[in-house]
Amino acid sequence: MNRRDFLAGAAAGAAVLGRCAVLGAFSPPATPAGRGPRKHWAWLRGEVTSMDDWRRSLARMKAAGIDAILIGGNADFYRRAVPAAAAEGLELHAWIFTMMRGEHVKTHPDWYAVSRAGVSTAVKPPYVDYYRFMCPSRDEVRHWLAGYVRELAAIDGLASVHLDYIRYPDVILPVALWPKYNLVQDKEYPEFDFCYCEVCRDRFKRASGLDPQQLGDPPSHQAWLQYRYDTITDVVGLIAKEVHAQKKLVTAAVFPTPAIARKLVRQEWTRWTLDAVLPMIYNGFYKEEVPWIERATREGVQALAGRIPLYSGLYVPDLPPADLARAARFVIAGGADGICLFQGNSLTPEHWQALTPVLAQKGGA
Ligand SMILES: [Zn+2]
Repeated sequence: MNRRDFLAGAAAGAAVLGRCAVLGAFSPPATPAGRGPRKHWAWLRGEVTSMDDWRRSLARMKAAGIDAILIGGNADFYRRAVPAAAAEGLELHAWIFTMMRGEHVKTHPDWYAVSRAGVSTAVKPPYVDYYRFMCPSRDEVRHWLAGYVRELAAIDGLASVHLDYIRYPDVILPVALWPKYNLVQDKEYPEFDFCYCEVCRDRFKRASGLDPQQLGDPPSHQAWLQYRYDTITDVVGLIAKEVHAQKKLVTAAVFPTPAIARKLVRQEWTRWTLDAVLPMIYNGFYKEEVPWIERATREGVQALAGRIPLYSGLYVPDLPPADLARAARFVIAGGADGICLFQGNSLTPEHWQALTPVLAQKGGA
């Protein structure tokens, strides 16, 4: 199915002209200008113990201007949560960790990425004990991911499968995190550089004639860098194929700008087969001030050239209420289609009070 057929199916009965239709059945029809009203999102964490309490908290978010929520869970949870969110007028997106998954360590240790220093994340993950990334080159990993997203995408009413950790481990961490791990990552160091497993080495060797382990300076080798960008891009493509086959959308949380995403985690997200992208424009992680959010947003918007909508992710713990409202205004000034809050249930009443007037300005994006 081509993209046009898919979109027509996803927005059955609604106007399919214009960008807002890309986000599916809950989105209102496009404005005559061809660009829909802004949409605002929230990532939600924490267990949902009572569906009634959860619905009340969703109703409050909806009243404050949130239109879509992203939450992790299993298929049973989503079957209950989708109608509950829809009853409050909210889209619900299945937020999944994609490459970083530890559950196969015991059964399939060979599925895990291996550093240039020769250490598998199944044995000793970098930075933190949960940083167990699978290797994106391996057919078994791809097959497992395809089955996993196929099951989610079959759930009635789900707005999208939302890909997080769709990348390699950070070869360089955002600069503000260096002191936390007592590191100075002024270049790519072998223990954080992935993946040099046998499958990756063999595939690159067949394509280029070169063994990545034998390169003089792997970090500056353009073909080897591109191989890894392309490998993640391919995984996004195969996930999109599965999800689109069930007339659902694919969205992703990515690093803040196209350049930073390539450099730190090998994401070439401007080329991905997505229906919307949510860059995590977390200024504090990069020791940037709030106005940087506008510049970073604009870089992504310009690189996408209108192909898909972009929603800028904001990191609430670094933004006191007045700064959060400023940040949201910078997102809009940068040309985004809306904001996404990390995380939606971490805002104080003062945050909501400051932010709501900005979120209320939906039109004329
Ligand atoms: Zn590998």
